[in-house]
Amino acid sequence: MNTKLLHTLDTDLDLAAEILKNGGLVAMPTETVYGLAANALNTQAVVNIFKAKGRAQDNPLIVHIAKFEDLPRYVRDIPPAAQKLADAFWPGPLTMIFQKQPVIPAQVTCGMETVAVRMPAHPVALQLIQKSGCPLAAPSANLSGGVSPTSATACMQDLNGKIDAVVDGGSCRVGLESTIVLMTSTPPRLLRPGFITKEQIENVIGPINVDPAVLKPLAKGVKPTSPGMKYKHYAPKAKVVLIDGESQKYIDYVNQHTGDNVFALCFSEEQNALLKPSLSYGAEHDGKTQAALLFQSLREFDRLGAKLVLAHMPSAEGIGLAVLNRLLRAAAFEVIHL
Ligand code: AMP
Ligand code: MG
Repeated sequence: MNTKLLHTLDTDLDLAAEILKNGGLVAMPTETVYGLAANALNTQAVVNIFKAKGRAQDNPLIVHIAKFEDLPRYVRDIPPAAQKLADAFWPGPLTMIFQKQPVIPAQVTCGMETVAVRMPAHPVALQLIQKSGCPLAAPSANLSGGVSPTSATACMQDLNGKIDAVVDGGSCRVGLESTIVLMTSTPPRLLRPGFITKEQIENVIGPINVDPAVLKPLAKGVKPTSPGMKYKHYAPKAKVVLIDGESQKYIDYVNQHTGDNVFALCFSEEQNALLKPSLSYGAEHDGKTQAALLFQSLREFDRLGAKLVLAHMPSAEGIGLAVLNRLLRAAAFEVIHL
């Protein structure tokens, strides 16, 4: 298959919308990461998403809509708290899970009775939903298990020849996937941290729970609330190890480490003191920049031929929780405490 590289001209978006209407697959920019979109109501198109990504058959997809008023078509029992969260954060990087309506194919939810829905805050994604007239099922546009794409180039690296088109909308503002909240439990439960923080959500609807799988590997035999949590995720080819400790100790640890192709993923304040090749992913207290640069840096380490990446562990405050959640998975939960 010849994968078209499209831009954001009206004629290109019309073509992308036509492909989606006809059951094709299009990688599209959103504010979080690039999504691999298909008509969520077309069973075969949805099946093709799983094939193109090599995604496990039990890992359900998020459905993207462009208007809050469309929500009742796809979900039922919308609690007042969901309306409040939508008023506060939609369009934006917040996904909510509800009971599904029968119109949502079982292939989208992998047989579950609930469905995850979000309204993205990106003009291209919103236009593609509107122009195609379809709700769009869209997981991250990467090969399963690997690093999520934050640019059209990254989508092409993974999916060239496997999908119909990639729309190049530049790099993603947020850089990490959406925050996911399960609205069918009382109180609602945070399943995946993201740019919208637990604190921001609690300011709107009061206390919520945090799923234990956010910061810990699942205990053997435990069924995860969010099926995606059990898979290896966000992993570059290089082995990643998280290093937990204050700056000087981290710098000493990296500088004393022996071996070939060892790289550091550090805070910007540390870069000059490191004797190993390094990428900085933002200042120590700048979670937003860390989020925006994390996936891009992990892909860059592969391009540079890194064998081992010693990553300085971010704080778990605010958006840092989301950065830490992704890095822990990239590192298969291997943490060295200094
Ligand atoms: P991705 O789109 O690749 O970022 O992955 C979507 C995430 O949402 C995965 O971790 C899924 O397991 C999770 N998810 C999607 N639908 C549901 C659902 N109905 N219940 C629980 N988790 C879900
Ligand atoms: Mg993904």
